[in-house]
Amino acid sequence: MTFSALERDKQIESLQSQVFDLLIIGGGITGAGIALDASLRGLKIALIEKEDFAAGTSSRSTKLIHGGLRYLKQFEISIVRETGHERAILYRNAPHIVFPEKMLLPIIEGGSLGKYSTSFGLYVYDHLAGVKKSERRHMLNKADTLKQEPLLREDILLGSGLYMEYRSDDARLVIEVLKTAHEHGALSINYVKAEQLLYENGQVIGASVEDVRTNQKFLIKAKKVVSAAGPWVDELRKADNSLKDKRLHLTKGVHIVVPKERVPLREAVYFDVPKDGRMVFAIPRQNIVYIGTTDTNYQGDINQIYAEKEDVDYILAAANYIFPSINLSIEDVQSSWAGVRPLIHEDGKSPEELSRKDEIFISESGLITIAGGKLTGYRKMAERTVDVAMKQLEKEYQIPFVKSSTESVTLAGGHLPGEHTISDYKGRLERTYIDYNPKDLDILAERYGSNTGEILERSKNYPFHEHALLKAEVDYSIEHEMCQNISDFIIRRTGRLYFERPTIEEIYPIVQEHIVEKLQTPEAIADIELQTFEQAYQAVIGFKSIEA
Ligand code: FAD
Repeated sequence: MTFSALERDKQIESLQSQVFDLLIIGGGITGAGIALDASLRGLKIALIEKEDFAAGTSSRSTKLIHGGLRYLKQFEISIVRETGHERAILYRNAPHIVFPEKMLLPIIEGGSLGKYSTSFGLYVYDHLAGVKKSERRHMLNKADTLKQEPLLREDILLGSGLYMEYRSDDARLVIEVLKTAHEHGALSINYVKAEQLLYENGQVIGASVEDVRTNQKFLIKAKKVVSAAGPWVDELRKADNSLKDKRLHLTKGVHIVVPKERVPLREAVYFDVPKDGRMVFAIPRQNIVYIGTTDTNYQGDINQIYAEKEDVDYILAAANYIFPSINLSIEDVQSSWAGVRPLIHEDGKSPEELSRKDEIFISESGLITIAGGKLTGYRKMAERTVDVAMKQLEKEYQIPFVKSSTESVTLAGGHLPGEHTISDYKGRLERTYIDYNPKDLDILAERYGSNTGEILERSKNYPFHEHALLKAEVDYSIEHEMCQNISDFIIRRTGRLYFERPTIEEIYPIVQEHIVEKLQTPEAIADIELQTFEQAYQAVIGFKSIEA
């Protein structure tokens, strides 16, 4: 079986016809990481996701693979050390979607960091995270800081620190992890929802599920069930009657996207918000800059999370303060995204103060739940979770314990030839595909890495077609990335809704027609899918007020 939406019937049948070692509920980065780790250890894995892969928090982050500099302030040394090491591993294993990004940290009068504390903090950060010498921090004086970034506010500037972070694409990372898990035998399916857990003698043995595309209901049986449902884990713990003691604390984070010509940053900046002492990122990418995030308690509907006017006003005010010449207004915002952090509640702590560490809960029924954590630390979180599951499998089913091996596994798309760097690979593509626009080649290389050639070859199936490359990309995402509808393609497989919104008007009817034709989507479903997409398309700039 391939990781193709065209094989859905076979995949659904396969889910029902066997007993899995592990059933994973949730197809965000946590579930994907567990599927990969467990399949590499030889376990028989099923993963179900109620929407599209990465549709939850894992497509709504700041998209940084980072050690979390700000956690140093909270003395969360172990998080910084672990995520710092993890980012080096991820950079090695997924060089096509993890890129070093210089980050400027301005030191301002009245800001949360002084010159010496910044210098010391960045020194500790580099050492805890094992940053290589050439990438370690530099401290800059005021004049050099302004040379580095002339947009910064001059009157309160004291200097800056320049250090290395890593930028990625969260939803693409999830897909590449799932594709790699698939190569090792995992069966992962989107649009299948766990409705209830199944029990035998008080022990969880699977789930009763619904294929939300066809409304077909069926059972999936497994020796062990892992809940990696992110912000939804407490719903499953409640159904399991195990929501006791610790519970989730959801906090909302928003990012806005503005055209780069309105904020012509030379590199990423991580700056203070004087109003509340928080810090916000401004990160350039292609033709845009995205700015965020907020961090506020969230008690609304977790299935419908959007940026509200108050969130946007907060980010605009912070950006206009630190870059006084830009005068951004809400009209400049061309897209946005919002997500909730599934953190673990601690009495009396504000959203900012809550720890980002992960925790595993094992219920009396044997349900294993993993909650909290960060995108960056997904590999280690997966290792810890599968260790727990394997120990139980060894005890109850005599399945021998096998150690994790994900540290040295290159992710799908990461097999770059030659020097193994993305810039070499882009150069190679440009020399081979001379009739193509180099910008298009670069974007595809940063999305699909070593699989880009397959898309370019496929585009030859549409000779003289104005949108040949687009159609080939849609084909690839259906046949190799389980893309089921227009939202999957435009939002999560390609990030176009966030990073290329102005171009969507032109392409989306073509994408819709091509997907519907290829998947033979029934008309009624196709209409709903189009409507769902159009709502998301409007919502990313249709900011309502919280008070409204
Ligand atoms: P999710 O991605 O939410 O996945 C859970 C999935 O389970 C969902 O897709 C959901 O649909 C599915 N599900 C739920 N119930 C069911 C069910 N009954 N049946 C089937 N499926 C179900 N981390 C970093 O390392 N770097 C960053 O820069 C960063 N920035 C962030 C910025 C913001 C604003 C936020 C909110 C988070 C950020 N994080 C960052 C944290 C990171 O994004 C999260 O820790 C991570 O994405 C959580 O992944 P997850 O798989 O646990 O949850």
